[in-house]
Amino acid sequence: MIDAVMPTYARADVAFERGQGPYLFDRNGERYLDFAAGIAVDALGHCHPHLVAALTEQASRLWHVSNLYEIPGQRRLAERLVASTFADSVFFTNSGAEALECAFKMARRYQSRAGHPERYRVICCTGAFHGRTLATIAAGGQARHLDGFGPVVDGFDHVAFDNMNEMRDAITPETAAILVEPVQGEGGIRPVSESCLRAMRATCDEFGLALILDEVQSGMGRTGKLFAHEWSGIVPDIMASAKGLGGGFPVGACLASEACASALSTGTHGSTFGGNPLAMAAANAVLDVVLEDGFLDRVAETGTYLKEQLDKVVANSNGVLAEARGRGLMMGIRCTVDGANAALNRSLLDRRLLSVPAGDNVVRWVPPLIVETSHVDDAVAILEDAVGAMQAEAA
Ligand code: PLP
Repeated sequence: MIDAVMPTYARADVAFERGQGPYLFDRNGERYLDFAAGIAVDALGHCHPHLVAALTEQASRLWHVSNLYEIPGQRRLAERLVASTFADSVFFTNSGAEALECAFKMARRYQSRAGHPERYRVICCTGAFHGRTLATIAAGGQARHLDGFGPVVDGFDHVAFDNMNEMRDAITPETAAILVEPVQGEGGIRPVSESCLRAMRATCDEFGLALILDEVQSGMGRTGKLFAHEWSGIVPDIMASAKGLGGGFPVGACLASEACASALSTGTHGSTFGGNPLAMAAANAVLDVVLEDGFLDRVAETGTYLKEQLDKVVANSNGVLAEARGRGLMMGIRCTVDGANAALNRSLLDRRLLSVPAGDNVVRWVPPLIVETSHVDDAVAILEDAVGAMQAEAA
């Protein structure tokens, strides 16, 4: 008989009861070090006092009114995001996939209003992940996500990751936009080179295309900048954010330049829940902390320390691990043997460390941004132990 919870996930047999900072506690009171952070969501860890206070205060006053009315917290968050990024305007959603849907609609309408209704296609990268709606699985282009869900939504073309020649060759008179994750997350923590990002920007300018960045996973401080593209010095035209934005409360956002955002005039797009007072209270509180002086620098420093420690583990792994890659607190540990990432992930869970498997044989570490070097040391010691056990098995 089918499970009452629709069986779309292979869940680990553990249920957590409470969380504190970078730790989770299961029903037996066992403590886990959380380097998964709800898949790169719990940016400030669990039960951060500032978030708890903000959400509790809002919950006792007002939950939801809809976008038929002014929502002061929404205006405040939008203005703060505008002040901190390239964007001139923001549309709020409940998830990353919805933020991407907004981006696709915006890019099409932007081109249409600019006199190019024939431009509707988006060039995407292989290995990408943009969500699980019909359009975002088409944008991701992964066979295992598309299987059985045809016909595939039209309008998405795929080129090799980090390959500007292929990207330029793929541009046709029907191309509206280029879409890329500055650091592929689900694809295995693969950063796009800064030179490639800069070339994409130049190419979009040359051909009149919109550059859409998917910063759902790489954004909100994860790499040590508010958004990962800042490392390359370029700006997008449209950007999707979610995950860390709400620190664990479901919220997403589509940020855009004035030229693109003005394509979505009154009545052209909407959401019942998007930007509601609860979500806005959570996201404003996250931003309070992430924008504090020195916060992002500490993420970058802790990330550099983490990378140094991981490089040592890789070097001593007798070939079990191939490399550590990523930026800031978005790290991938690539295993050498095909499929070994799932086993390593399980072995870390058994040792009370949470991580997330990703594509390309990678185990992903995306801890809360508040972790300190002592937490990194603890995680690395657990990894060493797990890798040691894998070496012993292989011998
Ligand atoms: N884009 C990226 C880069 C993601 O990593 C994800 C989720 O993992 C999404 C989009 C989809 O976000 P959501 O699951 O909130 O719809």
